[in-house]
This record gives sequence, structure tokens and C-alpha cells, in this order.
Amino acid sequence: MSGLTEYGPLSSLPAPTGAVLVLNAGSSSLKYQLLHPDTGEVWADGIVERIGENDSSITHEQGDVEIRETAAIADHLAAIEWAIRCFADNGTDLAAAGLVAVGHRVVHGGRTFYEPTIITREVISEITRISPLAPLHNPANLIGIEAARTFLPDVPSVAVFDTAFFHGLPDAAATYAIDRGVADLHAIRRYGFHGTSHDYVSHRVADFLGRDYDELNQIVLHLGNGASASAIAGGHPIDTSMGMTPLEGLVMGTRSGDLDPGLVLHLHRVAKLSVDQIDTLLNKQSGLKGLCGENDFRAISALIEAGDENARRAYDVYIHRLRRYIGAYMIELGRVDAITFTAGVGENSTPVRADALAGLEHYGIIIDAERNAVRSKEPRRISADDSEIDVLVVPTNEELAIARQSAAVVA
Ligand code: AMP
Repeated sequence: MSGLTEYGPLSSLPAPTGAVLVLNAGSSSLKYQLLHPDTGEVWADGIVERIGENDSSITHEQGDVEIRETAAIADHLAAIEWAIRCFADNGTDLAAAGLVAVGHRVVHGGRTFYEPTIITREVISEITRISPLAPLHNPANLIGIEAARTFLPDVPSVAVFDTAFFHGLPDAAATYAIDRGVADLHAIRRYGFHGTSHDYVSHRVADFLGRDYDELNQIVLHLGNGASASAIAGGHPIDTSMGMTPLEGLVMGTRSGDLDPGLVLHLHRVAKLSVDQIDTLLNKQSGLKGLCGENDFRAISALIEAGDENARRAYDVYIHRLRRYIGAYMIELGRVDAITFTAGVGENSTPVRADALAGLEHYGIIIDAERNAVRSKEPRRISADDSEIDVLVVPTNEELAIARQSAAVVA
């Protein structure tokens, strides 16, 4: 391997007995974390990005050791082999470490999977069968699953599905108004994504407020590079912004979110773009990036300060869409107890939180500017004491949620 390597002192952490290895394979990335499901203690985490290119970037942190390299990582299998070797080089033989499970984030569970599921040959076949619903993600997830079964044959693998939390969406929220026969034949409905995060965060909200989960009506805003909103009534999700694919809903880093479907036809018929070109345009070249060339809010804020009009418009479109969903979910829920921001933008961007909920005093929402400006990794309230609706910031932790669900199903 070529590139930059930095080695620190070797990890002095004890062997990770009882730990779960969580694998999150995206279309061109692999994230992993080795952590304890009860304590949340993290032994190691890493990420391989730009898989399939000549300059894949690799980061592995384990105890005091930090490895950063640039290399050509051909595919997900090579990425996993690389990660396992990093563990070995740092004194952790994963196959002999006493892991309780490998937890896999699987993006699409279709209509079949709505609970953490121990992976068998039959489960692999079924995930393969539903892969056309998530053509960029499920195949990568499957490679992660096969690799774990090859390299760690004695450790049970568990699939945790991104769609699972929303499997019980009411029919009215899950149904697209298209021909029923076509929809049924092709499994077309709204599935929802980021479910692990919405599930984890909404439960932490109940803990934070000291309230019973089942008695709370909540709106959760997961605003990261991907973004989604959910409405949860008395412990049950009743709506969410992502649909059959993770493209629907809010404006995201590189994804458009909601569009007139006629626009897609126009791009094909008139602009002569192929289906794959439209796919790339809407998933990778749209959203904030399409509007102003940047998808990171820190860069966008800097551009706005420098007077960049495209960045200003991108921000305004983002906030406009977000407020539209918040408004819709307030009506759907009728009574709202808590609105919670999470993920990279939600946890860190003071202006996004302020602007998303500005001027809603008549609806019982009052943001406390000082509380909103505090930076912290802890769950916190940013609404004023006299705000009827609690507005919170709660960091998400999908790896911990996957580790816990995996350990529980194996036990
Ligand atoms: P995630 O997908 O949850 O990892 O979120 C990634 C996104 O969070 C980035 O693309 C940034 O837009 C945003 N982000 C991360 N840190 C900050 C920060 N300190 N201020 C504003 N935005 C941030």
C-alpha cells in the first residue's frame, strides 16, 4: 500500500470480549466499529472511502493508534480484508477475540424484514431478491455479510435493517397514489430509511425527558449528509420523509429530495439523459451540492458570509423544505411533545435549528438562543422554559443501536 501512514503507540486496551463488530457498507465506503453493546465503549473504528478508485482513503483508530493511508482498494471485500489486517497488526485477532456478533447495517429490508435478523443462507437469498429496491446499497451490504462469514465463521452475523422501524407506517402514509396493480407487482410503497437512528434518538428523548416512550408524540429531524424527518405518535412512527428509496423528502447534501416526477420524464425525453445519468444527477449532483457546489454546511456558511448568492439560495431551499415537513408533521400528530435535531447538521448547526423553528411561538415553540448556541456531545434542551414543545438536540449513535440489537437477537 502506498501513501501516508502514521502509527502511534500500540493499543493497551484489553481484549474486546463481548464486543460487537458493526459493519456499515455504503455504495463506495465501508465504516466499521468494534464496541461493547452494554457500555458503548469503543475499541476501534475505521472508514474506507472511495472504494474502487485509485486513491481510496483509509482510516483506522484503535486505542492510541491512528492509521491513515491512501491506497487503491478495489472493492468492499478488499476493504474488509484491509480492516481485519489492521486489527491483527494492532494485536487483535478478531476471529479469536470473543465477539458476540457482527452487526450489519442493511439498507433495505423490503416487505420481508422488520426485525434484527440472524443471517442464514435463506436470509442472504432474500436480501439478494429485494436488492433491486436498493441497487447501490444492498449489494454492498451483502458483500460485507459474505466477508464476515468468510473471515469470522464462528461469529454470528446479524442484519439490522434501515427500513425496519417504519414497517408499520399507516397505509395512508405508506401508499403512493399510483395504479395498485403496478405498485403491488413491483413492491412500490414508502418504506422509510434511517430507521435505526430515528428509533435510537426517539428512545433517548424519552429517557432525557423522563417520560414513557409510548405516551410521547415526537418529531425527529435526522439532518446529516442524508436527511430525513419522522413523526412518531405514542411510540409508533406514523410518517417519514424518505419513501421507496432514500431520495424522497428533505433537501440533502447531494440528493434532491422531493421533486415533481414529471421532471424525471422531462430529463429523459427532452434533456436526453439516460436512466443512469438521471440517477447520478439526483443522488450525487443535486441537493446542496447541486445548488451551490458544496454539501458541507461549514463550507456553505462560509460562502454565505462571503456573500455567495448560490449558497444563500441553497440554504433557503433547505430550510424551506425542512419547515414544510415540520408543519405537516405537527398537523399529523395533532399534539407534539418534542422536536429533536440529530446527525451532523442537526447536532452542530445553530443557524439551521434556529431558522427551522423561527416564528413558531404561536404553535408553542420558543427557542432559547443561548441554549441553542451551546456546543456539546450530550443530549440537551434548546427550547425556552416556557416553550410548550420541548426542542432537543440528541446525538445519534447508529453503531451502538446496531450493536445492541445484534447482541440482543443473538442472546
Ligand atoms: P452525517 O451524515 O451525520 O455524518 O453529517 C455530515 C454533515 O454534517 C456534513 O456534511 C456537514 O454538512 C455537517 N456538519 C458536520 N459538522 C458540522 C459543524 N460543526 N457545523 C455545521 N455542519 C456540520
